[in-house]
Amino acid sequence: MTATNNLQLLFPPIGLRLKLDRSVDRLRPCHDNIATVDHGRAHHAAGLRCSKCGRHRGWLPREGFEFLTNIAQRFGASTEPIILRDQQIGDYVMADKQYDNSGILFRNDDKSGERDRDYKGEATISGVEYWMSGWIKEGLEAEGRAEGNGRCRATQR
Ligand SMILES: [Zn+2]
Repeated sequence: MTATNNLQLLFPPIGLRLKLDRSVDRLRPCHDNIATVDHGRAHHAAGLRCSKCGRHRGWLPREGFEFLTNIAQRFGASTEPIILRDQQIGDYVMADKQYDNSGILFRNDDKSGERDRDYKGEATISGVEYWMSGWIKEGLEAEGRAEGNGRCRATQR
C-alpha cells in the first residue's frame, strides 16, 4: 500500500474494519459481525456497517473513534480487524458512555386515537437505536419500568 492510500484511508478512520463483539452482536449477529467504520451523523463520531450486507450496526463511541484515529496514525492500517466490545476497543477501555444506554421520551401531542401512544422517543442501548413508545395507564398497576404509571415499548429501528 502506498503512503497516499494510507492517508486517505486513515484520517478519519473511515473504512477501517472492526470485529463486533458487543452484547448486542452476540444476541443479534449479522453475517460474521465484521463491520466497516462509516461516516457519523449528528453527535455520533462514526457509524458501523456490516461489511457484507451494509446493514447499520450502531454507532462507534467517540472514544473508540479517537482510539482508531490515534492507532491508525501511529501504526497504519491494521490487517486484522480490531475487536469492539461494549466498553472496550482493541486493548483500550472506554469510559465515556455519555450517549449509550440512554433515551428520551416526549409527550405525543398528536395522538391519532384513544389507544395511540402517550409518549414517543428514542434510545440507544448497547449501540443499537430503538424507537420508544409509552402509554399511561391510569388507575392500574404500573407495567414495565417507565416512570410513573404506564408501560413502555422499545422497537429496534
Ligand atoms: Zn450483514
